[in-house]
Amino acid sequence: APGLYFVATPIGAARDITLRALDLLATADVLAAEDTRTLRHLMEIHGVPLGDRPLVAYHDHNGEQARPRLLAALAAGRSVAYTSEAGTPLVADPGYQLGRAAIAAGYAVHTAPGPSAAIAALTVSGLPSDRFLFAGFPPQSGEARRKFLAGIARSDATAILYESPKRVRKLLDELPEHTGGERQIVICRELTKRFEEVLRGTAQELRDRIGDQDPKGEIVVLIDRAPAETARAEDLETALRQALRD
Ligand code: SAM
Repeated sequence: APGLYFVATPIGAARDITLRALDLLATADVLAAEDTRTLRHLMEIHGVPLGDRPLVAYHDHNGEQARPRLLAALAAGRSVAYTSEAGTPLVADPGYQLGRAAIAAGYAVHTAPGPSAAIAALTVSGLPSDRFLFAGFPPQSGEARRKFLAGIARSDATAILYESPKRVRKLLDELPEHTGGERQIVICRELTKRFEEVLRGTAQELRDRIGDQDPKGEIVVLIDRAPAETARAEDLETALRQALRD
């Protein structure tokens, strides 16, 4: 059927792709990908031929130019399947502007749901899963990073962050200032891959286990929610501030 399809792809293990995702990759009139080589490789692994269908690069740096071409395909009644480099498009990956533009122009937007590192990490973390806050990549430094971490620390939901392996040790050093030293933190590294590893503990315990070399690979950091007293104190503070303003 015509329309835009956001197709989730593996975050590591190549066989973590749904049958429907493969069907869509096999039949969509136009394929679009954040990284066309990654998609070609995935299709090769699963024996899905590209044939003479167009494969369009669509990423953060060419969105403005590439979008009209994809929208024109939708206007012509074609189906367009979009994959990001790994996992679910739009989750710390391109696709948001494309989806918005398709919706604004009245085209159907569909999903072939599948892996996302955020959800994969939540499921193995052992942290409360009833409420969570996906916050993507923290700002790299400065006041923006501090504010971001302070906000995360106050959250009454399990926080899920993506962090560069180069900044994980820095993150563990910075967190206690905001969370106190007792908060449980979980580091998920290389999920579904050969060197998958899940570390659970306080910031200090994790910092000690990591030692003085940056860890390797792809990493999700989860932070337990704020204890109830903190959340209540927050409410009280907000209420007071509100009352004083009124
Ligand atoms: N769209 C993807 C998704 O749905 O998870 C995320 C893309 S984002 C650009 C890439 C980041 O996701 C990595 O830096 C890492 O934080 C996380 N990530 C992706 N694959 C991972 C894996 N196998 N194990 C741990 N983290 C992963």
